Amino acid sequence: MNTELHRHLDVSLRLSTLLELAQKKGLEAQSTSLEAFREKFVIHKPLDSLDAVLNEFTLFQKVLDRPEIIERVGSEVIEDCWAEGTGTVELRFSPLFVGEFSKLSWDEILGSFERGIQRGLARHPEMKAGLICIASRNYGPEEVGRTVEFFLANQTRFIGIDLAGSEDSFPCRVFVESFRQAELAHANITIHAGESGGPENVWEAIELLGAKRIGHGIRSIEDPALVRKLREKRICLEVCPTSNWLTRCVSSFQDHPLGQLLREGVPVSINTDDPAIFGTTLPQEFEIAWKQIGLSNSELAQCRKYAEQASFIR
Ligand SMILES: [Zn+2]
Repeated sequence: MNTELHRHLDVSLRLSTLLELAQKKGLEAQSTSLEAFREKFVIHKPLDSLDAVLNEFTLFQKVLDRPEIIERVGSEVIEDCWAEGTGTVELRFSPLFVGEFSKLSWDEILGSFERGIQRGLARHPEMKAGLICIASRNYGPEEVGRTVEFFLANQTRFIGIDLAGSEDSFPCRVFVESFRQAELAHANITIHAGESGGPENVWEAIELLGAKRIGHGIRSIEDPALVRKLREKRICLEVCPTSNWLTRCVSSFQDHPLGQLLREGVPVSINTDDPAIFGTTLPQEFEIAWKQIGLSNSELAQCRKYAEQASFIR
């Protein structure tokens, strides 16, 4: 069974569920078929930038507006991961993002996701899942600080904390003070960095924010000293090939540095990021890594092993 470290729960809705909810709320015409919706909603070709993808996310915010819907999504994501052959999954969500339109309290959001996940796990007791709290950097340092406080108040219910969003407009150094609290509390920290931004962002994530893992981190390949640091400190990169291609962080799969990072001894894992919006699954990402990026079977097995070793779920 696979281990997946990087999957956004709040944008992981099954497409059929997303369409059903959007139709119920009048956000999508009743006549829209699943195929037509897939064609319109799923991103098939590279967008202008990572920021352009981030703008696509409002539909998720609009439909995740009641505890029972959030619970359903939690349960369905577990079912979907199981169907993909995943035995251990780390699911991340941003309370600020989910609560922004719905006005549900963060406590209510966390509790609803937890109930859904428990419901899913009850059907697959051999599976393991854990929640990572995302601090959304686009809302600025004050809101990130509030999210870190929420995380610390609920630290036993989360396996770790993440910083996500636009790294170009909101570099890691802006959030040092908030993440210091998480570091002092010995939290497991993973940071989105080196995706669209350069290696300096990965350095900052490690040295200023205490990252134990890096979300994406593919541009680390540009800096040999950083590659050495990742290798020596066993800092695992959570790489998401389709996501990197669709957000134009790489120009083609053939140019993806996944294989090179692996051969340099950097622990690298393979993940889906936002499977609904990118129209992917974990087996599909492994297939891309094999067929298009050119990893061998033993390298794929190595990625599986790195994911197991780097998991925050113990
Ligand atoms: Zn991500």
